Amino acid sequence: MSRIVMKFGGTSVANVERIRNVAQHVKREVEAGHEVAVVVSAMAGATNQLVAWTREASPMHDAREYDAIVSSGEQVTAGLLAIALQAIGVPARSFQGWQIPLRTDGAHGSARIASIEGDALISRMTDGQVPVIAGFQGIAPDNRIATLGRGGSDTSAVAVAAAVGADRCDIYTDVDGVYTTDPRIVPQARRLDRIAFEEMLEMASLGAKVLQVRSVEMAMVHKVRVFVRSSFDAPDAPQTGPGGLPPGTLICDEDEIVEQQVVTGIAYTKDEAQITLRRVEDRPGVAAGVFGPLAEASINVDMIVQNISEDGKTTDITFTLPTSDQARAIEILNAKKAEIGFAGLNTQADACKVSVIGIGMRSHAGVAAQAFQALAQRGVNIRAITTSEIKISVLIDSAYAELAVRTLHSLYGLDKA
Ligand code: ADP
Ligand code: ASP
Ligand code: MG
Repeated sequence: MSRIVMKFGGTSVANVERIRNVAQHVKREVEAGHEVAVVVSAMAGATNQLVAWTREASPMHDAREYDAIVSSGEQVTAGLLAIALQAIGVPARSFQGWQIPLRTDGAHGSARIASIEGDALISRMTDGQVPVIAGFQGIAPDNRIATLGRGGSDTSAVAVAAAVGADRCDIYTDVDGVYTTDPRIVPQARRLDRIAFEEMLEMASLGAKVLQVRSVEMAMVHKVRVFVRSSFDAPDAPQTGPGGLPPGTLICDEDEIVEQQVVTGIAYTKDEAQITLRRVEDRPGVAAGVFGPLAEASINVDMIVQNISEDGKTTDITFTLPTSDQARAIEILNAKKAEIGFAGLNTQADACKVSVIGIGMRSHAGVAAQAFQALAQRGVNIRAITTSEIKISVLIDSAYAELAVRTLHSLYGLDKA
């Protein structure tokens, strides 16, 4: 017998029929003798609709009310799944974040989980009941509902798994695992049987939205084994395949991966904007002067490139940020122009960041050089580069995004046979 947390995303609970299908997946695990807790997302599209209504009511809305509105989608699916389970003879009860309670910090709209009361959930599970938990939400110190940021049900699920000491957290979604790159963009993408926590963390932060970044962080810290699989597989299909598990991807410790490739995957994010400050005076404190005010406005700057001019007196500073923050950043920088001391500001939207990820890069030289050469051969111009021990990211024109992803995917031998 194992204790399992099963999480179902939006497309898996898109309507009542899909929810009945989810109930069958849960029933199968209960009948196999496992203790099960379930975490659900809102029906596909529901959260987008709620966000749109909130924005329509007022673009400058109150974050506490935003949370009151957008958390409601999960309340509906938790109740519906509890009913669907009861209807097929599985004892179940729905829970909203505050009923557990799942406590968060006060950052409404993208709150972090502070603690989860696991004992009550455990005693329900040992009594043979299935708690069906509304994902994406918790209760903040001000006693109001808080949401965990878009895609946050993944984080709810991993956090619940850690709190109840689950043997595994199964993430059921609309693809049957984590692929070498987004399978909706590159049909040649291959499913990975296993991926290390660190690689998944990079993949998620660099654009692979299959898991919320924080859920991977949490799994890594609490050593929760996460298994990504499809809710579209028949609930009564055999539950063991060649590796002892059904089709899917296990996210686990690096030492559990026997056959390590140099490159594991390619990720990308569109909607990056680039800002260049020309002829900034080159003196200590200048970077703080530029990036301090942006940080205060909660603008996340990503890649930063600085070039000293020939005379050594001035420098050009180029950096990237999400396109949605571009206008605000320009306004802030122009307001501080005299203080920072720059001659001009250039900006470009429509950039895309493509990243190559793999822990094998630690012990292999030349991976970056290969990428630059392959992109050059395709006429793709690189605007900026950043690297770490296990990833290389390049900033390119968005028009070349798909070409670059496909080129790198083939270059590192990731295409399926
Ligand atoms: P859910 O609603 O179940 O949370 P998401 O839409 O958040 O599902 O995540 C699943 C989607 O993530 C897939 O449909 C796929 O298009 C996308 N995706 C992006 N990168 C990858 C990847 N490397 N592997 C698998 N899926 C990916
Ligand atoms: N329903 C929320 C969203 O769409 C949370 C989630 O699906 O994980 O962002
Ligand atoms: Mg998701």
